[in-house]
Amino acid sequence: MRTQGFGGSFEKVGHTLKILLQRRADYNQKDIDSAVNTIFERFGGVERFIKRGASVLLKVNLVSGHVPSARVTTDPAVVRAVACAVLKAGGRPVIADSPGIDSFSRAARVSGIASVAEELNIPCEELTDSLRVSCDGGARYIELSRRAVESDVIINLPKMKTHAQMLLTMSVKNMFGCVVGQKKAEWHYNMGLRRDPFAELLLDIWLATRPALTIMDGVVGMDGQGPTHGKPFSYGLVAGAEDALTMDLHLCKMMGARLDDYPLWRAAVSKNLPQTNLSDDDIAGDFLPSHRWNADIPKLDSLSLVPFSSNALAKALTSRPVHKSSRCIGVQKCGKCVALCAAKAIHFERNHKQDKKLQFDYDKCIRCYCCHEMCPAGAIDFKEGLMMKAGKAISRIRKVWGNWD
Ligand code: SF4
Ligand code: SF4
Repeated sequence: MRTQGFGGSFEKVGHTLKILLQRRADYNQKDIDSAVNTIFERFGGVERFIKRGASVLLKVNLVSGHVPSARVTTDPAVVRAVACAVLKAGGRPVIADSPGIDSFSRAARVSGIASVAEELNIPCEELTDSLRVSCDGGARYIELSRRAVESDVIINLPKMKTHAQMLLTMSVKNMFGCVVGQKKAEWHYNMGLRRDPFAELLLDIWLATRPALTIMDGVVGMDGQGPTHGKPFSYGLVAGAEDALTMDLHLCKMMGARLDDYPLWRAAVSKNLPQTNLSDDDIAGDFLPSHRWNADIPKLDSLSLVPFSSNALAKALTSRPVHKSSRCIGVQKCGKCVALCAAKAIHFERNHKQDKKLQFDYDKCIRCYCCHEMCPAGAIDFKEGLMMKAGKAISRIRKVWGNWD
């Protein structure tokens, strides 16, 4: 695990606070409580968000069942601090998410989040029932969790991580969990190969659910091949913002990624969203806007930069999933990859003696990398496509000749 240094505490007088960055080195409960309470106070007090008796959805990241030290899911200390603040204000918190394929009860138990719910005697529930919601001015409809849509307030509790398909998975993407269960894989399939339409979908979901406040768990997040198979990375951060998109875009830069490489940024630019007018004055707290964590950011196949429409060519250029059979638990015992692949692009050889021989149909595969994300054993890797190789070569040239941006 790598740790980066911190900047000094600062605040620009006379500007509306958009993001508050709180330095926290570990998950000591008292320190996390104080970070969360400070965020509420600085955004006008918890009562501004939580009216007495209000139903409050705490949208955690419970993508799949991982222990807290894996740094995949929202840390229970952060969930506990926020739930306590909501209870104190007279709200009715419900901790909720919809894992892609894992059992919710298992994911909640393993992550330590179920214990928080038991201790505080509050519900911890899977998002199940869906509701059809109009998005993008009626341009499309998305089925979202009824509980998420009908809650009085949503508090978004994402984990600060990199993402092999979407570069980063932060606040806006955390709301994708309001798409119920396997429907997530269907949306990946509907969006196909390109990242930008998927990022536009993420924006639509965020705008439709519009959490009142986002509190980011970045004390120890992840870099590398996130969101489930990266490395723990100590950002030392608890961040709060009313506008999740503004937070994500600023943190993208601070993590050391290029905004142009971030599909969410490109989607926000194409939608002409005001959040793309980033200013250092948006940020206050314990890190300067110029702070850089220099996390290991995944390289994406930047298909959006190439003006072609042929899916066959796109697939040839894009990295593809490959099976590491030595790590595989076996399809009979696990089989998550086969079950979740919406493209039906994964098969296994039934007669293979070890039950660990997966076959990919790369013509059907849409390179969503959900199989990589959900494999509990890290048994699905990538074979770099030509686009990725070219991107790496350009990065090397940039390093030699200096940054051309
Ligand atoms: S094989 Fe993996 S990357 Fe390809 S479509 Fe299926 S889940 Fe997505
Ligand atoms: S590759 Fe991963 S998800 Fe698929 S069967 Fe093996 S262990 Fe399970």
